[in-house]
Amino acid sequence: MSRNSLAWRLGLIVISLAPTLCRGDEARFRMPEYPDAPPPPPRSRAEVDALLAGDAASNPAPQNDDRPLRIVLVAGPKDHGQGEHDYPRWQQVWARHLPRVANTHVETAWEFPAAQQIDAADVLVFYQRGSWDDQRAAAIDPFLARGGGLVYIHWAVDGRGQQDEMAKRMGLSALGGSIKFRHGELNIDFSPAASHPVARNFQRVHWVDETYWQLAGDESQIDLIATSAEDGRPWPQFWTVQRGRGRVFVSIPGHYMWTFDDPAFRTLLFRGIAWAGRRPVDRFNELVRLDARLE
Ligand SMILES: [Zn+2]
Repeated sequence: MSRNSLAWRLGLIVISLAPTLCRGDEARFRMPEYPDAPPPPPRSRAEVDALLAGDAASNPAPQNDDRPLRIVLVAGPKDHGQGEHDYPRWQQVWARHLPRVANTHVETAWEFPAAQQIDAADVLVFYQRGSWDDQRAAAIDPFLARGGGLVYIHWAVDGRGQQDEMAKRMGLSALGGSIKFRHGELNIDFSPAASHPVARNFQRVHWVDETYWQLAGDESQIDLIATSAEDGRPWPQFWTVQRGRGRVFVSIPGHYMWTFDDPAFRTLLFRGIAWAGRRPVDRFNELVRLDARLE
């Protein structure tokens, strides 16, 4: 090979790497800001492989997944410190990346989706300080009745005084400061989920995040996915409910933004979104490891 030819080939390599090297934070599927504290250790590749195992078995056929999945990501004003409850940045990052999966359409909404967004949506995902009132009920009840999916993450379960009404739709809901909570090391037990497709391969997962307990609502009416032991007994941290044809998935963890970059947490939320939208739970798997906190 001549020197010119080698230089030309090296040039080609540099040019082909350039988009990767120049890829700024804007392109990253990672939350741009964490708390000013050491993040938990990254998840091992073996653990993530084990969580995702059985993809083909769970999706024996395309299952008519050529229909577009229409998602609305709903955020609200940030209400905690650096790297906590960062609803606006979550919305920006996820709105950029979820549509990388084929047949996925994402819109965003602030506080609550517009009527036409709800009419067109398969799944509404709420990560915000939650709220409930008659207007929301008037929008959500028909949405659930026609088979719509709802996902609530962390403080989105706040009912702001309307927790009993909110719990009728989503299972359990919080009355502002009356619930209990704990930040720190979590050891979430998925044994209650048994055969639920959202929790396939999950047994125990360790996070550094936040649990809530003593929420309003009837625990006997939820399909329990996972618990955390607090005050001497297990309390629901992930659950689903079905309201007629409508489906709801709830994740209490979601306080620290590093949790959203954890492949195990992403796997659960992606499956929850897909399940709520009545689609194969593995449809977002290609995004689980993307820019994730992996060893
Ligand atoms: Zn929190």
